[in-house]
Amino acid sequence: MIIDCHGHYTTAPADLQKYRDGQIAGLKDPAHVPQKAQLSISDDQIRESLEGAQLKFQRQRGTDLTIFSPRASAMAHHIGNETTSKHWTQACNDLIKRVCDLYPENFIGVCQLPQSPGVAPANSAAELERCVKDLGFVGCNLNPDPSGGHWTAPPLTDKHWYPLYEKMVELDVPAMVHVSSSCNANFHATGAHYINADTTAFMQFIQGDLFKDFPTLKFIIPHGGGAVPYHWGRYRGLAQDMKRPLLPEMMRNNVFFDTCVYHQPGIDLLFKVVPLDNILFGSEMVGAVRGIDPETGNYYDDTKRYLDALPLTDADRKKVFEGNAMRAYPLLGKRLAKKQ
Ligand SMILES: [Zn+2]
Repeated sequence: MIIDCHGHYTTAPADLQKYRDGQIAGLKDPAHVPQKAQLSISDDQIRESLEGAQLKFQRQRGTDLTIFSPRASAMAHHIGNETTSKHWTQACNDLIKRVCDLYPENFIGVCQLPQSPGVAPANSAAELERCVKDLGFVGCNLNPDPSGGHWTAPPLTDKHWYPLYEKMVELDVPAMVHVSSSCNANFHATGAHYINADTTAFMQFIQGDLFKDFPTLKFIIPHGGGAVPYHWGRYRGLAQDMKRPLLPEMMRNNVFFDTCVYHQPGIDLLFKVVPLDNILFGSEMVGAVRGIDPETGNYYDDTKRYLDALPLTDADRKKVFEGNAMRAYPLLGKRLAKKQ
């Protein structure tokens, strides 16, 4: 089976954004009473939104199952307050659940969390629990910077985050470290803010003792681990100078990178330097880069092609496409067994 660990519902029917626009407009009106979403999206509209996009690409590219979450750039945790974020998050997660119910063979859910700048991560635990226990999801996207590019929250290794980690460990689900849109003009969202966050999270994991405190806590760092593979020597050297564990040891059962790297040399480098057991197949389709590479004639985000071109053994290929995802998302195997 070929599991794509990184897909977003970037093509959701317009009614979802309409609700969000109303929410944002309401923030300016002191008389506005925040309302939970009541979307009038039909099953056919959901089918239509996926058939020409994510499902088409799954079929064309020969992948089987996408670990599917709400549109990451739209999480925008910096907008509004805790209630704004909670209502928006629930609407987005409920829609993912409907996608998974309509196409149980093709999608399995990962949730957005109701984060807000300055609000304790513990307050996100209830929505995580609802998504895992009631909606059948297998993980969450955790935004290390709910301020949207101003980095006002403590590092991911700080005890600030521990109550949420306790819930993740209890439920046996990982988090993909995933920022959202940037409201800092210095950082383009997908070109800078995303890659910065991936790199930043990895360095924080080197510095902290998080996995001593939570030996089973798991994170997926997307976009191929940001700048880390290219600067692997720098991070090895820093870890050594700081008398921290070796990188493969730190990552072993706790930190995984996906393959959302949009050219062959980048994928070649990723597999050359990062332990294969810590790499999960992912494409982030339909997502950050939607065009076709004129040099190859293929979509930039058709990352399966780059993996197909690697000289991997069958056993290693199976790990990257399936086995490693099963390790990173412990509930995945259980959920899939139930579906059969
Ligand atoms: Zn993403």
